[in-house]
Amino acid sequence: MTTNFYAPPSAIRAGRIVLPEEEARHLRTVLRGEAGDAMTVVDGDGGWYRARIDHVGPDQVVGTITEERDNVGEPDMDVTVALGILKKRSRFETFVEKAVELGARRVVPLRTERTERDSIREERLRNVMVAAMKQCRRSRLPDLAAPQSPEALLGGAEAELRLVCHAGAGAVPIRQAAAEAAPVASALALVGPEGGFSPSEVEDAAEAECVSVSLGARRLRAETAALAVLHSVVGAPPNDVDGAPGGHGQNG
Ligand code: SAH
Repeated sequence: MTTNFYAPPSAIRAGRIVLPEEEARHLRTVLRGEAGDAMTVVDGDGGWYRARIDHVGPDQVVGTITEERDNVGEPDMDVTVALGILKKRSRFETFVEKAVELGARRVVPLRTERTERDSIREERLRNVMVAAMKQCRRSRLPDLAAPQSPEALLGGAEAELRLVCHAGAGAVPIRQAAAEAAPVASALALVGPEGGFSPSEVEDAAEAECVSVSLGARRLRAETAALAVLHSVVGAPPNDVDGAPGGHGQNG
């Protein structure tokens, strides 16, 4: 089976893996997994396992670990991407899904002067993140931070490179900013909501050592900007994403 399954670290012990109910049902009913098949399981904490399925019950799948690796599919760089909470929840969900695929380590919903909504659907976003982690074959589930102000984020975050996306006078082209800063192990990028950042928010970010970066001449939708800056900073992942020989089939 080329699908990755998720099991929390607590479900992996003494060489054995017990899949959570929902994952077990998916394996049995949709993928028709049987005892003797091999499966790949990630624990969301950087753990990656190949396992032989020993038992498939109505709600339970148990396997024995045959191979173990660390941080499969994870970028070297620790990147946090912060985006103003969007009015349309579905757009924020799309952003979160893609941010996982592009290698974000942490996603921060920002409450800014111009956000028109101040809450997120945390559980739903987490489910989107778990699905994206499995789909793109990462082994680490990125953090989903609580909604917060740029000020709180900048006050607490320790990132070597700090960027605020803002298409205004004095903004440095993103490529230049990324090239001049390289190499760094951690980065933080702030992107405004639909209405952008206020002038004072941009000033405050600059005071908090953020480089003002431009993503080009076009005004991008907020979620597009967030994904573009993320990819520019992380760069492309290595080709051999799951690290295992063979088994690179597409995962639906
Ligand atoms: N009406 C707003 C535009 C907001 S676009 C304004 O005129 O300021 C939403 C967010 O996406 C912006 O706050 C910025 O962070 C980011 N963004 C969009 N296009 C960008 C670009 N070309 N360069 C840098 N940031 C951009």
